[in-house]
Amino acid sequence: MLVVMKKDATAEQVAAVIRVIEELGFRAHPLPGSMRTAIGITGNQGAVDATHFETLPGVAEAIRVSKPYKLITLDLKAEKTVVRVGDATIGGDELAIIAGPCAVESREQTFAVARAVRKSGARFFRGGAFKPRTSPYAFQGLGEDGLKILAEVREEFGLKIVTEAMDEAGVDMVERYGDVLQLGARNMQNFTLLRRAGRSPLPVLLKRGLAATLEEWLLAAEYVMAEGNYNVILCERGVRTFAQHTRNTLDLAAIPEVRRLSHLPVVVDPSHGTGRNHMVTPLARAGVAVGADGLIIEVHAQPEHALCDGAQALKLEQYEQLVYEVRAISEALVSVGQAFLPVPSSV
Ligand code: PEP
Ligand code: MN
Repeated sequence: MLVVMKKDATAEQVAAVIRVIEELGFRAHPLPGSMRTAIGITGNQGAVDATHFETLPGVAEAIRVSKPYKLITLDLKAEKTVVRVGDATIGGDELAIIAGPCAVESREQTFAVARAVRKSGARFFRGGAFKPRTSPYAFQGLGEDGLKILAEVREEFGLKIVTEAMDEAGVDMVERYGDVLQLGARNMQNFTLLRRAGRSPLPVLLKRGLAATLEEWLLAAEYVMAEGNYNVILCERGVRTFAQHTRNTLDLAAIPEVRRLSHLPVVVDPSHGTGRNHMVTPLARAGVAVGADGLIIEVHAQPEHALCDGAQALKLEQYEQLVYEVRAISEALVSVGQAFLPVPSSV
């Protein structure tokens, strides 16, 4: 159930509705919008009786939700969620660029990339300290030492740190050193981890699972939100198909569909989405063109020596060119949108 408050409802009236929801033993999720506040209800097993709310002061209507998700939907909040990370945003007017190496390998390697990322004007730096690798013998990441290097990057370059945690102890650590908590494709349905992320003060970048439907992905976001963390960024990173020319098949059609269903921002990862250096920039351009709020890009000063995902890493100068191109597309979209405003007829 969703309780929609009147436009002029007071904070006290919203608080009174929340109290009633909690007295019924449910959880209230007030999500204020620019036009009105709506309050999502979770924790109920069956239907909730609308008459509990309909007569309360300030309530416009109580709506039964028939969709499987309640909190990610545009029904709850009609305008896009803008995730704020300090003075940077994802989902706002500016295209968000998150760039950096797949893995933090050393201070020197990380700083070389961070310098280029800073120079490009991007606000976010990515880099894994905990790496979910297919082989147990592959480089697993530097762990807390890697996080310390990332914290130095933040200090030195003012970049916001996006980094993955693979388990609950990892979340504790990322909370100490990072700015955005990344949950990887392989953990998209690790429900314990999703719940823990839902109790984190950090925004969550939620990658789509390797074989996840859109509904499963959105329900994973719902897990995080149901615990009270509403700052979720969805990340399309490709799914496994029979294609052999790419590592994954980047499902760009997911972007307009997410937009149709959800207020959450969504970014595109053309690095994991293709796995191949020469495809990253074209798919990044396409991601922006279909309406992504941002991009997450793997970059390495020496991809041939990368300990992880070298085949998809952009060299520094390739990355610089990518940023130039995607900004041009993003600006063109804005000006086309403005140019297309209906012209009033003069006769
Ligand atoms: C990554 O971002 O380096 C990563 C491991 O991504 P994914 O979880 O999408 O495979
Ligand atoms: Mn990677």
